[in-house]
Amino acid sequence: MAIDQFGRKIHYLRISLTDHCNLRCIYCMPEDQTFRPNPELMQDDEIAVLTRLFASLGFDKIRLTGGEPTVRNHIVEIVRTIASTPGIEAVSMTTNGILLRQLARPLAEAGLKRVNVSIDTLDADKFQRLTRWGKLQEVWDGILAAEQAGMRPVKLNAVVVKGYNENDVIDLAKLTIDRPWQVRFIEMMPFAGATDIEPGQIITAAQIQERIEAGLGKLELSNDGELDGEARVFHIPGAKGNVGFISSVTAPFCESCDRTRLTADGRLRLCLLREKEVDLLTPLRHGASIEDLRRLILDGIWLKPWGHGLAEGVIPSNRVMNEIGG
Ligand code: SAM
Repeated sequence: MAIDQFGRKIHYLRISLTDHCNLRCIYCMPEDQTFRPNPELMQDDEIAVLTRLFASLGFDKIRLTGGEPTVRNHIVEIVRTIASTPGIEAVSMTTNGILLRQLARPLAEAGLKRVNVSIDTLDADKFQRLTRWGKLQEVWDGILAAEQAGMRPVKLNAVVVKGYNENDVIDLAKLTIDRPWQVRFIEMMPFAGATDIEPGQIITAAQIQERIEAGLGKLELSNDGELDGEARVFHIPGAKGNVGFISSVTAPFCESCDRTRLTADGRLRLCLLREKEVDLLTPLRHGASIEDLRRLILDGIWLKPWGHGLAEGVIPSNRVMNEIGG
């Protein structure tokens, strides 16, 4: 069991399978972002070894992310390997959905239980502006394919950015009236100078909720106020689905954090918004024993930071989001 110095049990691993992406969302990376060459990324067998190791330490929940995880070569085989690792109970994925039309069924058959699809607006022109070239229809088709393949509940992620999509939150929330989906609104997180976005463009979860309530009436609290993952969940009265708010910036959920991240280049990133990392891939490639790697992981997790320092103006600058895996 991996425990940190604050007594938090860490059993949820987010694995970034690649830093490459088929979109360039404005809040995630610059348009001219360059990506790591393949040999610097964890190879399929290295992902398998590290997954087995984390599972042996009590990790039971894995989310695959990126970059864009579906552009990774052999993605279906990678999912099959992870899902069949003893001890791993649930494998999910965060994706932009573009390739799900073809991949949803094989991924579901390989053991992928659920997907969170990123979709920041239902307006095709604004979608293109936010993603720099994305086609909204492809994402929509991907969402429907995931639902048809049995990956439920469908969860949609929307990052809200002033000047881009703050007026689109009502239409996104309305999706939940007739569909049993969860639409989650995410506060944009600042990554120093790495994106086109200024901290002043952050819209808080409270402001997003106000906007939705101004258009659709008061939301009712769901789940007795318990967090669903990192989201505080509400519903429109009578709706089939629900609406979540992820207030990572203004009201972080560090106290209940149970996760850590493995970057595509094999670093254990202990907190999304702190620079501290432990290199696992280099020792693995230099012949470290499983016992050595286990020690590196447990010692690293013990020192997991309590939480981010955004309130004190500490903004991570060693990586942008596509390199960490959101
Ligand atoms: N490509 C996949 C996708 O689009 O979902 C997975 C990787 S993406 C980095 C994971 C999540 O991080 C997405 O929901 C994305 O919207 C979110 N994200 C990226 N940059 C962010 C930022 N600066 N602040 C908040 N969320 C961000």
